[in-house]
Amino acid sequence: MIDFKNTQIAFESKTNVDLQRAKILFECMQRSWLVKIGKFAAEFASAIHFPIAWALKPTIYRQFVGGENLEECALVAEKLAKSGVYSIFDNSVEGGGTEKAIQANFDEAIRSIKFTQERENVAYAVFKPTALAPADLLEKASSGEELTENEKAVYQRFQERFENLCKYAHELNIRILVDAESYCYQNEIDRMTEKMMRRYNKKHAIVFTTLQMYRHDRMKYLEFLLDDAVKNDYIVGMKFVRGAYMEKERARAKKLGYLDPICPTKEATDENYDNGLRFTIEHIDRFEVFNGTHNEKSNFLLADLLQQHNIEQSDKRIFFAQLYGMSDNLSYNLSKAGYNVAKYVPYAPVKDVLPYLIRRAEENTSIAGQTSRELDLIRTEVKRRKLEIRS
Ligand SMILES: Cc1cc2nc3c(=O)[nH]c(=O)nc-3n(C[C@H](O)[C@H](O)[C@H](O)COP(=O)(O)OP(=O)(O)OC[C@H]3O[C@@H](n4cnc5c(N)ncnc54)[C@H](O)[C@@H]3O)c2cc1C
Repeated sequence: MIDFKNTQIAFESKTNVDLQRAKILFECMQRSWLVKIGKFAAEFASAIHFPIAWALKPTIYRQFVGGENLEECALVAEKLAKSGVYSIFDNSVEGGGTEKAIQANFDEAIRSIKFTQERENVAYAVFKPTALAPADLLEKASSGEELTENEKAVYQRFQERFENLCKYAHELNIRILVDAESYCYQNEIDRMTEKMMRRYNKKHAIVFTTLQMYRHDRMKYLEFLLDDAVKNDYIVGMKFVRGAYMEKERARAKKLGYLDPICPTKEATDENYDNGLRFTIEHIDRFEVFNGTHNEKSNFLLADLLQQHNIEQSDKRIFFAQLYGMSDNLSYNLSKAGYNVAKYVPYAPVKDVLPYLIRRAEENTSIAGQTSRELDLIRTEVKRRKLEIRS
């Protein structure tokens, strides 16, 4: 039985100073009013190009981000590897924008695939399709609307870039995760990812699709993917997450008057997520599984499913994954118990990683006066170390 409450293992790589710094940060993020003010101030400062790096870099950025570039992340990866935890370097620039920005994002993704191949402690490459296309165009294509001739040309370039990243990952035999973002882009991203899986996942999974299980239609889609994989003889690379854009999605559905794509309750999302895990492990000859969650129960469940189906803990088709700076109790204890574990290590300059940092802060804000998971664990470890010194 894995013990996720073992904070000694969870924080073995953290000094007392690291822990104190993290404690203060999570205590601040507990206060929803402070997070709201911080969010407003950071977005405003960023909009008027007021420098904010000095305030964010030693605090929230340091906790959740590996650095500004791949080279800085490599140092983080070395540290994680000492505890048997792999890294995944995630360029966290969100949104493509101009052709110049899109090309820069593409070049960086190519570089990160190469970087991944050169390092044993990096388990997957990853990219965000929205970084490769103007957002409005991706949304229009996903909605099935007819594109103009000019838009078709831009869209063609998006498809080529998407395909070239997967092709390069395949040539280097590197597994590549295709992140999921807002619902309005997802139809096209799914279609492209399916095409790439059919092409490159013949022997094993190279390309991984992301299923946001807070969507109530995702089990059906999972069943479709299994059928498709059998029909076209390929392995589905399956990255599971619950989904990070719930409030935005609900608000958009309400505003535009379409059916809310998100499960009605947290319990329904949890059930959907766990059913996804069960389904893929029951059909493991057609899947590789990436379990991207901080939810203890879902991590226990996957560990349990592996045992039930006589799948080795170290089977490379199965990875557990958490975000850098969060849930070290899961990552380090799973790794110690012999499972494959990876951390998403985001990287980008401060201004580009702001939306990501805001999401992390909001996730760690107190709900109904409860202490956040992270703060609870940090306090436990601080106490444990004090007692250790005394005894
Ligand atoms: C390695 C990794 C990669 C990730 N990549 C992506 C990605 O590509 N795309 C993406 O969108 N997110 C991604 N995420 C974030 C993820 O989607 C979740 O936001 C985050 O991990 C919190 O969910 P959880 O399963 O860890 O934990 P939990 O705390 O158990 O679940 C919280 C989640 O439950 C859902 N939820 C909460 N309340 C309700 C409610 N009332 N009704 C319905 N559902 C509810 C929401 O999805 C919420 O984020 C990633 C996370 C990890 C660890």
